[in-house]
Amino acid sequence: MTAPSLGRTLDLIGNTPLVLLKGPSEAAGCEIWGKCEFMNPGASVKDRAALWIVRDAEAKGQLEPGGTIVEGTAGNTGIGLALVANALGYKTIIVMPENQSKEKMDTLRALGAELVLVPPTKFSNPGHFVHTSRRLAEETAGAVWANQFDNVANRRAHIDSTAPEIWEQMDGRIDGFTCAVGTGGTLAGVGLGLKERDDKVTIALTDPYGAALYNYYAHGELCAEGNSVAEGIGQGRITANLEGAPIDTQFRISDEEGLLWVGRLLREEGLCLGLSSGINVAGAVALGRQLVAQNGRGQRVATILCDTGFRYLSSLYDREWLKSKGLPVFDWLG
Ligand code: PMP
Repeated sequence: MTAPSLGRTLDLIGNTPLVLLKGPSEAAGCEIWGKCEFMNPGASVKDRAALWIVRDAEAKGQLEPGGTIVEGTAGNTGIGLALVANALGYKTIIVMPENQSKEKMDTLRALGAELVLVPPTKFSNPGHFVHTSRRLAEETAGAVWANQFDNVANRRAHIDSTAPEIWEQMDGRIDGFTCAVGTGGTLAGVGLGLKERDDKVTIALTDPYGAALYNYYAHGELCAEGNSVAEGIGQGRITANLEGAPIDTQFRISDEEGLLWVGRLLREEGLCLGLSSGINVAGAVALGRQLVAQNGRGQRVATILCDTGFRYLSSLYDREWLKSKGLPVFDWLG
């Protein structure tokens, strides 16, 4: 055991462990590695994007001391922004669709963010949380709009930090990477960062149902089928963060399959995660199998364990909620 290092609070963002996932590796017939993004201070992958977006706004002179950061988010980016803002002396106004988890709302309020809830609606509707947050930023003196979907400081976080970390943790021996897309910052940024180091690494999209990207990368058409209860993922357009993303192949994963991995990771590996992590792991297993079929044994695939399951105790881990969504209930919930 080495002693914990000394540092500043914002240095707690990133440098997360990468762990070998036993069950997924057995299922794929090759190594499946999970990047523990739930270990960031805000307990999600979005702390990285939050820090890079704030530092970028500062560098561009858009954020004055004591200024306000406004953002539309499914929750995790807001939590990351609120923590970073607190550490640097800024305020946050967070606009969120009201169908996201109660735990995320409670967390945002607890962190001191001003929370604005709006009804969930299509992106084309001016009341959509993203457009509402842009308007609020325009109307608030001394405010910047974080604009995580189209602000490429988001994917820069993953080009600069997540990708080199994975590369070093895997000693430069990685055959595939996959994850789902919310803004696309993680997939595009890690994809670009890994391809820079080895252009033979296969980068795969793992898409939930209800999102349009699987069809876009498979058939060139933005078109969604089905739906998903997964929070933070599922995109219907090519965001600026996704433009030029080096995506070689794609998988579509159901909530049932993602949940199966959420349950197995909890019971067999002691990891309590959100549904996007389960969907990512299912995608990594699919990618691992495909790479083994194409190139033989010994493949090494990495994915993202995006956020903590403690954020979903009243949904994913609640018997009545799962039943109300027509999803299978974990055995141990009775
Ligand atoms: N999983 C969760 C739980 C998230 O909150 C997000 C961010 N919206 C993602 C995955 C996707 O990350 P990205 O925005 O980088 O595509």
